[in-house]
Amino acid sequence: MTASFKGFFKDVKLQCSRCGKEINENDEMTVAIRMPNKRRMPVGPLDRVLSKFAHEILCTKCK
Ligand SMILES: [Zn+2]
Repeated sequence: MTASFKGFFKDVKLQCSRCGKEINENDEMTVAIRMPNKRRMPVGPLDRVLSKFAHEILCTKCK
């Protein structure tokens, strides 16, 4: 895999806000998020949306 190819599909890392644990695929998490208004409704991959809009992400241990 070339560097540019990797860059294109670069994952957004979601971390637990309390302990810093990385949230991986299939992990459960608790997210605090405010309902956005219709004009600013976020669209896109969930991890990207959450990294932008969630104010708190907690892993199963910290919730
Ligand atoms: Zn945690």
